[in-house]
This record gives sequence, structure tokens and C-alpha cells, in this order.
Amino acid sequence: MKNKAIFLDRDGIINIERGEYTYRLADFVFVDGLVKSLRRFQTQGFKLIIVSNQSGIGKGIYSFADVELLHAHLLRFMRLNGIEIHEIYYCPHHPDIGRCICRKPDSLLIEKAVARFEINPALSWFIGDKPRDTAAAEKAGVRGILVESNSSLLELSEKIVQSPTN
Ligand SMILES: [Mg+2]
Ligand SMILES: [Zn+2]
Repeated sequence: MKNKAIFLDRDGIINIERGEYTYRLADFVFVDGLVKSLRRFQTQGFKLIIVSNQSGIGKGIYSFADVELLHAHLLRFMRLNGIEIHEIYYCPHHPDIGRCICRKPDSLLIEKAVARFEINPALSWFIGDKPRDTAAAEKAGVRGILVESNSSLLELSEKIVQSPTN
């Protein structure tokens, strides 16, 4: 397993966490400094992979099509800025409606990415804003970093790329 990755939660890391479900384009606002931080990672050879819980689908609040529309927008915006997001994995289930093994803190989606992109988990990091993000990461052998929701990743990206074990 030769590749290294930065795994990113979506809401609160990529786009502003509003304290309610984000599924409309109008409510989807990128966190400050994101492009610059992701570019820093990319330049250092990290693959960029998003892993998100989207239980609003399971609850019937919004649809797969709503999520896909946001993600198409996200990917297009990143591409225009020279950034390749390798994949966006998301769990559509809600625990009140049925158990699954892909919702964080479970690690199935991370493990899928690890297998598909030949990632070495020990060389990789997961940046999230909830303990369930870092819990999922650790189950998959990825180093988890918990940050405050909606915070710029500029300083953190600098720290990570300068880390001797990156
Ligand atoms: Mg989040
Ligand atoms: Zn699931």
C-alpha cells in the first residue's frame, strides 16, 4: 500500500456546518482557506477523500439526487481550482431507521477507500469535527485529527505536511 491520503469529513470541514442538514446549494458555503489547504496537501502527494454521514437521506429529509447535486458542485469548484477530490463516500442511513456498518464511527467507507486507492492508513490522516470522525479513522488505522467546526485548515495543513511521519 503505497499511497497516502487526507480523509476529510464534509459538513464543518469542507462546507460550513450550520447546525442543521445542508442539502440545498444556497446553503452550501465553503470554509475559509479550504482551497489553499487542500492544494498544500495535494502538492505533497496526498490523495483527497471525503467521508460523510448523510442521514438526512435515511430520514427522508432530502434525496440522493440532492446530495449528488451538491457533490457535483463541490467537485466542479475544486477542479476549477486545480484540486482533485478522488472520491466522496457517504452513508445515507439513519440509526433510528436501520443499523448499517458504513455510518461513522464505523469505518467501512474509509476501508473501501483504502482498498480502492491502495492507501497506507499509517501514512494518512482524517480531519473531522466530531469524535465519531476520529473514532472511525482510528478503527481503520488512520490518524484522526479533531478540529473545531468551520475552522480554517491552513495552519493544520502546514503542520501535517511538515510532520516527519507524513
Ligand atoms: Mg462534520
Ligand atoms: Zn450507512
